[in-house]
Amino acid sequence: MDQNMITMTIDGREIRVAEGMGLLEACAMAGAQVPTLCHLEGLSSSASCGLCVVEVEGGKALTRACVNKAVQGWKVHTSSPRVMAARRMALELLLANHPEDCLSCARNGSCELQAMAERMGIRERRFARTRKALAKDDSAEGISRDNDKCILCGRCVAVCAEIQGVTAIQFAGRGIRTHVAPFMDRGLATSACVQCGQCSVVCPTGAITERDESREVWRELRSPARTVVVQTAPAIRASLGEALGMEAGTLVTGKMVAALRRLGFDKVFDTQFAADLTIMEEGSELIERLTEGGTLPMITSCSPGWINFIEGHYPSLLPHLSSCKSPQQMFGAVAKTFYAEQVGLDPAAVGVVSIMPCTAKKKETRRPEMRSAWTWWKDKGREAAPYFDVDWALTTRELARMIREAGIDIESLPEEDFDDPLGRSTGAATIFGATGGVMEAALRTVYELVEGKPLPGLEFEAVRGLAGIKEATVVLGGKELRVAAAHTLKNARIILDEIAAGTSPYTFIEIMTCPGGCVGGGGQPLLPSDAKRRARGGAVYVEDRRLELRKSHDNPAIAELYSAFLGKPLGHESHVLLHTKYAARPF
Ligand code: SF4
Ligand code: SF4
Ligand code: SF4
Repeated sequence: MDQNMITMTIDGREIRVAEGMGLLEACAMAGAQVPTLCHLEGLSSSASCGLCVVEVEGGKALTRACVNKAVQGWKVHTSSPRVMAARRMALELLLANHPEDCLSCARNGSCELQAMAERMGIRERRFARTRKALAKDDSAEGISRDNDKCILCGRCVAVCAEIQGVTAIQFAGRGIRTHVAPFMDRGLATSACVQCGQCSVVCPTGAITERDESREVWRELRSPARTVVVQTAPAIRASLGEALGMEAGTLVTGKMVAALRRLGFDKVFDTQFAADLTIMEEGSELIERLTEGGTLPMITSCSPGWINFIEGHYPSLLPHLSSCKSPQQMFGAVAKTFYAEQVGLDPAAVGVVSIMPCTAKKKETRRPEMRSAWTWWKDKGREAAPYFDVDWALTTRELARMIREAGIDIESLPEEDFDDPLGRSTGAATIFGATGGVMEAALRTVYELVEGKPLPGLEFEAVRGLAGIKEATVVLGGKELRVAAAHTLKNARIILDEIAAGTSPYTFIEIMTCPGGCVGGGGQPLLPSDAKRRARGGAVYVEDRRLELRKSHDNPAIAELYSAFLGKPLGHESHVLLHTKYAARPF
């Protein structure tokens, strides 16, 4: 073990580090905070910002710490006058071409460039702009791009290619015309982009952000003509606290409910109610495909970035998708039919707002087919101008900004409960927030429905954790079935290529778009890492254990929904409101 360690000196401090460790990490171990705007854990570094330079004794040029390894015997200085001057120059040149928009920028207060200028004591702009202003791209429903704020760090290009395997954006142009763009400089909406938002989580500046819809939601909340209900996705309770400055993995379920009430929502409901409903429908669909014949393997359909991916990149495999809508959309359809009818509200005057971990959820709300409540009422003779099942989907980051804007101190709030009936849920619904969770929740129900007894060991460890593709075997109806859970679209590609080649060993597959599942979604707190994703995922499993009911079919509010309204899973009303059709969407 010891022969794999090396010794070096950083700022006069001798340290021993593992051979092969990056120099940036070694500097951090020695207590030196070497700045960088392009390097990020888990992505290859473009070494473009030039801020991480350090001086190695005996070396002619300065050394970039983000792309060099620690070397035995090196004596490194991280803040010598030469280093500080070079860093300052690099930053001043970046700022020369940057608009002075901080006060109205979505990243004001959370921008790494802004923080770096403050850290480096920049108080004036010495250099004139050399780059022409670049146009914004507002074509996509989920994210917006403002290339004028881009510092060409390359993180977005790397995450899109290396984590998602989509390569929707790349560097284009040369010299001062270099910029980030989809193929042929198209808008994102007509590119290969699936609007997962992973680029917006890693962007250090306001160059790629979620499309901010908080103004529209404030307007809804202030309108006396509207009854505005909110639903919160499972992963939000594990990440909202972090977005408001708490430690990653802090669970804030009850305080989040209290904060939403104080923002003015008339009812605070839970997407987890609809996650339990999804399990009833999707589990029944799986049993039907297994017993009566149907396309296998069946793949889950809750993650809208994944839906955009298969529709655009693998349309021939669409029959493998479950026909279930995502929980967000099931919720909207039920809220504007069953709930509106139950409490005597005009469905056209009900506003449904979702708090989601994901930018692709914004796009999902605008799919033309997601007006099923309107169609349902129309079929019953109730005419109204067309409306969507879900009016607005906000990300965790947008909700955190609204809470700050309202001056709500979430930590001091009491814990409050969700409203009935669309706020009741089980632990199975909570674990939808982590990769493998939908599979685990489905197995808790499907096993019991088929075998007439609970799954041996409720916690299905084999599909938990951050491995890219996790596999397990279950015996169902006397047959051994292989199942898999994959996260990130790069891993989805592996699964899909196997299916296309006819070599897939699986019967049932869960696919989530983002690393770690929804806890690592594109609308979640910035600057992600595996440690943060693990902490958020851990919180989701804590919540599962904390809930009294842990299987979707045990949710009494779901039983009531079926007996009073839907009839049975996969029945007529379910098909109208809870299921959908997918179509090839070439880009
Ligand atoms: S990206 Fe950062 S530095 Fe640029 S305008 Fe926005 S907050 Fe300011
Ligand atoms: S949203 Fe996702 S697919 Fe689109 S450019 Fe960003 S990382 Fe790539
Ligand atoms: S858009 Fe953001 S992440 Fe992409 S290169 Fe520009 S600054 Fe970096």
